[in-house]
Amino acid sequence: MDLGIKGKTAIVCGASKGLGRGCAEALAEAGVNLVINARTESTLIEAAEAISAKYGVSVTPVACDISTAEGQAKVLAACPTPDILVNNAGGPPPGMWSDWDRDDFIKALDANMLAPIALMKAVLPSMIEKGWGRVVNITSQSVKSPIAVLGLSNSARAGLTGYVGGTSRQVAPHGVNINNLLPGIHATDRAVSLDKGVSAAQGISMEEAAAQRMETIPARRYGTSAEFGAMCAFLCSQHAGYIVGQNILLDGGSVNSTM
Ligand code: NAP
Repeated sequence: MDLGIKGKTAIVCGASKGLGRGCAEALAEAGVNLVINARTESTLIEAAEAISAKYGVSVTPVACDISTAEGQAKVLAACPTPDILVNNAGGPPPGMWSDWDRDDFIKALDANMLAPIALMKAVLPSMIEKGWGRVVNITSQSVKSPIAVLGLSNSARAGLTGYVGGTSRQVAPHGVNINNLLPGIHATDRAVSLDKGVSAAQGISMEEAAAQRMETIPARRYGTSAEFGAMCAFLCSQHAGYIVGQNILLDGGSVNSTM
C-alpha cells in the first residue's frame, strides 16, 4: 500500500532502538525524511546511518534527553515544522505505590506526559497552517488496564491521554490527526528489563519469567518493533485522516475487554 507520505518530514523521539526505532524504520520505508532522537549519541548515530543507508532517506540524529526543555529545543531547532511527530521516551521504573515521592512523579510526568505535550504545542501551529499533520504518541496498554507495579507510568500516561482526547478534536478540523498507540509487551530492551524484575521478584530464570509473561498474552508471544512501526506509519499516512483521538492497543489481545 502506498502510504502517500513520501517526501514528508518526521521527528521520531526515542528512536535509536525498540518501538521508536520500529516507527522510524517504517516511516523511512514510506519515504519520509527523519530527525531521530535518543540520549546516547553513539547508538543514535549508528541507527541514523543504518536507516538512511537502507531506505535512502535523510536521517538527522539529535542526541539529547527529550524529557528536558533543552532537549526539546534541540530537536525542534533541527526540525521546527515537521509534518509528522512521533512522541516517545523511556518508561518509568516499576515499584510499589508506597515507593514514589513527588520527584519520582515529576520525572515520569516530564518524560511521558509533559515532553509530548510541549512538542505537540510547538509543532501543531505549523501543521494547522499547512492543513496537514500527524502526531502519534507511544503510550502503553496500562492506559486501558493498569499495571500495578507501573504506577508512575499509569499516572503519567493517563494525563497525556486526557490531553490528547481534547486536543485531537480541536486540531482535527485543520487536517491534523493525533492518536495514541498503546503497546502491550514487545520484544525490546524495556521488555527484557521488566522480565528481569519478574525474575528477581520470583526467584526464577529470565526464560521462565518471559514464558510466564507470554502465557498471559492470547497471541502467546511478544510483539515486534516492526509490527508496531507498521501501525505507526499507517496512522501517519494519507489513509488515516478519519482516525482522530484514538487509543489503539497493540497487545496480542492482553487487555481483556470487548471494546
Ligand atoms: P527501549 O527499547 O528501551 O527504547 C527506548 C528508546 O528511547 C531508546 O532509543 C532510548 O535511547 C530512547 N530514550 C529513552 N529515554 C529517553 C529520553 N529521556 N530522551 C530521549 N530518548 C530516550 O524501550 P521500548 O520498549 O521501545 O519502549 C518505548 C516506550 O513504550 C516506553 O515509554 C515504554 O515504557 C513503552 N512501553 C513499552 C512496552 C514494551 O513491552 N516494550 C510496553 C508498554 C509500554 P537512549 O537510552 O539512548 O536515550
